[in-house]
Amino acid sequence: MKFYSTNRQSPKITFKEAVIKGLPQDKGLFFPEQVPVLPASFFEALPDMALPEIAIQVLSAYTAPDIEQEALREICDEVFTFSIPLVKVEDEVYTLELFHGPTCAFKDIGARFMSRCLQTFAEKGKPVTVLVATSGDTGSAVANGFLGVENIEVVILYPKGGVSDIQEMQFTTLGQNIRAVAVEGMFDDCQALVKQAFADEELAKEMQLSSANSINVARWLPQMVYYFHAWGQWKKQHPTQTEVTIAVPSGNFGNLAAGLLARQMGLPVTYFVAATNMNKIVPDYLESGVYTPAPSVATIANAMDVGSPNNFPRILEMFEQQHTAMQDVVKGFWADDDSIKAVIKQVNEQKGYLLDPHGAISYLSLKQYLPKLKTSGIFLETAHPAKFKGSIDAVTGGDIDLPEQLKAFQNRAKQVVSIKNDFKDLSAVLQQQNEVSA
Ligand SMILES: *Cc1c(COP(=O)(O)O)cnc(C)c1O
Repeated sequence: MKFYSTNRQSPKITFKEAVIKGLPQDKGLFFPEQVPVLPASFFEALPDMALPEIAIQVLSAYTAPDIEQEALREICDEVFTFSIPLVKVEDEVYTLELFHGPTCAFKDIGARFMSRCLQTFAEKGKPVTVLVATSGDTGSAVANGFLGVENIEVVILYPKGGVSDIQEMQFTTLGQNIRAVAVEGMFDDCQALVKQAFADEELAKEMQLSSANSINVARWLPQMVYYFHAWGQWKKQHPTQTEVTIAVPSGNFGNLAAGLLARQMGLPVTYFVAATNMNKIVPDYLESGVYTPAPSVATIANAMDVGSPNNFPRILEMFEQQHTAMQDVVKGFWADDDSIKAVIKQVNEQKGYLLDPHGAISYLSLKQYLPKLKTSGIFLETAHPAKFKGSIDAVTGGDIDLPEQLKAFQNRAKQVVSIKNDFKDLSAVLQQQNEVSA
């Protein structure tokens, strides 16, 4: 498959090139030249298909010919090793639990898939250094996704003192091919340093740098897999029903963009809900037709604190920039911190289900829309509630247990290099990394 840029000023390239480059030169986003529609036989078989099998069927058209069928099978078998259960919360309301991976957040899926793709490409060429800036969740998913993957070195920049303890442990204690760099600055400074590194000609001569942020096609496309899986599981329990709405807690909108691409491939989801916190740029656009990015506002659903959603151009592309066409399929919703806290408490007490702050927003959005849309509803749970132990315990008055995956990080020693907010310092760290791996 070839991929073009949504800005149409860069040449079309293959999957491999799109994964390594990350972003087209013209600052658009890579988008597949064709979106294949899956046959009826696939949807009939779906309720009984295992995740790796679904992944192969959904993804092979995009990864061919750069990844051979056998290699794709190996990758999918390694990536989809944990369950993604569809759990009933109340009548006609189900949740898809995407938090059973190694860092207890849905980003595990895209990060693991991307790491295996890059490994396949790096085996044939020179080693790749993955450089990524994080405000918390991305760093842990990328670090764990790439841990122990041969021929790849990972450098994670984060703001010193600016991430939670659990998050920091998840990417500073791993060792092996993962290096954590604490920057004396804010997240924006880390991001600026990463940009500078990619633009630096000297570094480009010495090493192959790659980014692992959420716009990379190798993180975006595998997220389609669990939408097909969710529908299959729902269909199993509702063989005669046809209408279902999926609510997606959204920040950079990669997750929702994957759901919508799955729909273009034939997935019979009637509606999607774009559910956000107070950073309601997209719900506002859905209402008014005017798209106005803004500085982000801090909320308790902090993985969604995004004021300029970087995957949104892909969604516009799918609806050919037509506001009304998007409105027909995508419904907007937003919630403030007080409503998030209230619904976590209420659902815990009345239904015995503990929502995390992100999933809570998508649950709320279904409660608002289902009576109007008259469909079944599935909301995505994107992180384990224990990742937000502070806020959750404060709301429920309880003491939530950490899942085993998170406990495992607790007793390990941190390994961190500290640098000033200065490109010279970063450049030195990267070159040192290069010597170690060479
Ligand atoms: C990253 C993240 C989101 C937002 O996903 P996008 O694909 O950026 O919209 C939602 N919830 C959690 C827990 C996340 O980590």
